[in-house]
Amino acid sequence: MSNVTLDIEAWIDLLPEPMLVINAQGTIVAINSKGREFFGGHVLNRNLRELVATPPEKLNKWLPLWQQATQMVPGTLQGHQGQKIEVEAVGIHRCQPPLILLRLFRQPRFLRQFIVQREQFQHLQQQMARQTALIVKLQQRQKQLEAENHHLQGVSQQDSLTKLANRRAFEAHLESAWRESATTHTPFAIALLDIDHFKRYNDTYGHLAGDRALQRVAQAFKSQLRETDLVARYGGEEFILLLRQTYHDVAVCVVERILNYIRSLGIPHASSPVQPYLTVSAGICIVTPTLGDCPMAELVATADAALYEAKRSGRNRYVLQTYTGGSELVLAGQEI
Ligand code: GH3
Ligand code: MG
Ligand code: MG
Repeated sequence: MSNVTLDIEAWIDLLPEPMLVINAQGTIVAINSKGREFFGGHVLNRNLRELVATPPEKLNKWLPLWQQATQMVPGTLQGHQGQKIEVEAVGIHRCQPPLILLRLFRQPRFLRQFIVQREQFQHLQQQMARQTALIVKLQQRQKQLEAENHHLQGVSQQDSLTKLANRRAFEAHLESAWRESATTHTPFAIALLDIDHFKRYNDTYGHLAGDRALQRVAQAFKSQLRETDLVARYGGEEFILLLRQTYHDVAVCVVERILNYIRSLGIPHASSPVQPYLTVSAGICIVTPTLGDCPMAELVATADAALYEAKRSGRNRYVLQTYTGGSELVLAGQEI
């Protein structure tokens, strides 16, 4: 046996299909272990004609063709039981004359194709399943991010102690109320609400009790408002109302109701020179918007001036001013 056949035998032994190396006369010069399994017994140096029942004239035609082939040529042999054995053959041109490498398929071609297609289909199914899982994961992550974003947005607009809207949220609502009011030509109102002598409250009952009082007052404010109104913590013990589409008589009515309600809670405030319970003063600003940007600072300053007036004139009351684009007019003040 030449070195070439030895090399080839070692190489074809690695292959999963039965492989034979034959010469142009059909003598088997090398075979792999799957080939030995396929034909059973000792087959080396025997002739292919002995192992198959393929008509000799067909083999005589095939062998020279296979010997010359430079790429795999398909063919069909016939087994002794009449079964078809599909093969592929190619010339091994490293030796002279060239030998023939013959590969036998244990399964018919349609079955092989079916198996390949099934494997490809399974592979595709796995890929799709992986991609679907990935999409589901991405969708979950997106939902999570949206929820986190929503939560963060909420937190950034909320006062942590009272859970009311904070000043930033109020300012956004004020701008939109200004635009809305300019379109509908309806006035709206803002009102600063400030707890009277709250420093003394803290001094008397302690800061923690002060915090609880702020929470209680905040909820009381909220309970007295319409859905469309907004109450925000403006800072410290000051709160601010935004009453959309509101004329001054309704604004007065709402603020009176709120101050009454706080008083009716009867939250003890022993050190208050106003009343022995917690009271609130209010500065209302009625706004009739003009064209242009919302003069936020001026509107709040108008409400603050009214609040100052309410404080100065004895607390536990409201004072109302209208914003007329620069020349505010004190309209009314009322002790509750
Ligand atoms: P006035 O009637 O003039 O408004 O008097 P006041 O004492 O309420 O006003 P001042 O501005 O002198 O004091 C406000 C007090 O509110 C002082 C501060 O300790 C208290 N305060 C502000 N924020 C908080 C808070 O978050 N918790 C508590 N417990 N107290 C607060
Ligand atoms: Mg105060
Ligand atoms: Mg204050």
